[in-house]
Amino acid sequence: MSNIIKLPHRCPNRNCEHHTEASTHRELDEKFGYRNMPNGVRSQSWCRECRKKS
Ligand SMILES: [Zn+2]
Repeated sequence: MSNIIKLPHRCPNRNCEHHTEASTHRELDEKFGYRNMPNGVRSQSWCRECRKKS
């Protein structure tokens, strides 16, 4: 894997109502989602709920 994702990962949005946290890559995929980039896979920093709002 070219991208190292630090776990646990917590939603950095201060206004996050969900306090979303992922302690496994599976949770990261479910709650945050991955983004496929040409040069590899990047994790989304904000949780899905926060990204939905903005
Ligand atoms: Zn959030």
